Amino acid sequence: MITNEQAFDRARAVLPGGVNSPVRAFGSVGGAPRSFVSARGPYVTDVEGREYVDLVGSWGPAILGHAHPGVIGAVQDAASRGLGFGASTPGETELAELVRDRVGTRYLEKLRLVSTGTEATMTAIRLARGATGRDLLVKFSGHYHGHSDGLLAEAGSGVATLAIPGSAGVPDAVAAQTTVIGYNDLDAVRALFEARGSEIAAVIVEAAAANMGVVPPAPGFNRALTEIAHEHGALVILDEVLTGFRVSASGWLGLDGDYEPDLVTYGKVIGGGLPLAALGGRAAVMDLLAPLGPVYQAGTLSGNPVAVAAGLATLRLADDAVYAHLDATAAALSSAVSLALSAEGVAHSIQHAGNLFSIAFRETPPTDYAGVKAQDAFRYPPFFHAMLDAGVSLPPSVFEAWFVSAAHDETAVSRILDALPAAARAAATV
Ligand code: PMP
Repeated sequence: MITNEQAFDRARAVLPGGVNSPVRAFGSVGGAPRSFVSARGPYVTDVEGREYVDLVGSWGPAILGHAHPGVIGAVQDAASRGLGFGASTPGETELAELVRDRVGTRYLEKLRLVSTGTEATMTAIRLARGATGRDLLVKFSGHYHGHSDGLLAEAGSGVATLAIPGSAGVPDAVAAQTTVIGYNDLDAVRALFEARGSEIAAVIVEAAAANMGVVPPAPGFNRALTEIAHEHGALVILDEVLTGFRVSASGWLGLDGDYEPDLVTYGKVIGGGLPLAALGGRAAVMDLLAPLGPVYQAGTLSGNPVAVAAGLATLRLADDAVYAHLDATAAALSSAVSLALSAEGVAHSIQHAGNLFSIAFRETPPTDYAGVKAQDAFRYPPFFHAMLDAGVSLPPSVFEAWFVSAAHDETAVSRILDALPAAARAAATV
């Protein structure tokens, strides 16, 4: 048997930082990341054979819990018929129909399947530029939309965790095509559109922000944003990569959808744990994509049949009972976290966006990235490590949401509850 430290040392020699995605490196919490070998239901198991209750859920996809037999069966069945053909399959049409029907043709008439959330948002932006003939993109600070050049300025997720303003290697000319403004600030939105409205191709927004910790949109924010953008002939790209099919059967639009974004992006749950993502919108916009239109996009693995099988099985199994369980579990866990922190006198607030939630170590809930940064973030590493020592795997950054699943039963939840008092004490005494 090897230890997690040995696994990490070996990885570091051949993988930059020992990881293939930065947040996994425990950069802000310290210590050697756990190296996992298997997962089942609400649990993950590391190279040392230690089992943890998992609240990362593969960063979102594992809505049913890990290795759900219905999903694994569908994947095995698809794999036995070939891993991919680089050609059309009936399954990809079925998945697109299922998504369209669940979300509704008011928002989605056509979809294109891609492999990652990054590709989905990148393509949506190109499409918006192609549709409007304009270049400028508006994004919100603290929002994360993947790692393409134009989207890293003041981004959330790993960019926030590493406390960097953006990324090296992005040409100034590309960065200049993105304007970043504060979240939940309609005055800033109005002012920007009044000053530069005719240059703006699109505004991209997380349906509910969850990559700087969870910061829900103020009531009516998404609707007002859409109205302002549309008044100026700009498109709205609603990024549901994280919220899609997680916060409800039809995503954030199912909870707060009294507006019509022009394009919607999906990832994570839609692929059931395999690399699959999508963008969709009205046919008039989507048909601008090649081969029908002038906006080019392609992918060797797009609509991969094994990934499509995982996505179809996951979406079909995610019924109303699953969402009711996620909501109840998230509510129970978040109030237990809050009680434990209060008992130790730790200033905190818990933010929710449906069943997504996270802690901010400050008295009042932050509403934007500046507010998120103004918290006692130093309390999170000891909290995180106390939980990990007690067998609970949390996201290794205070700027990430916690993910529950349908497999988090009473046993798993009580293991989390048992671990909370000592973790709250660790957060209090740091
Ligand atoms: N958009 C959002 C809202 C996300 O949360 C993420 C990933 N966390 C992405 C886009 C990028 O997706 P991927 O990591 O699959 O490229």
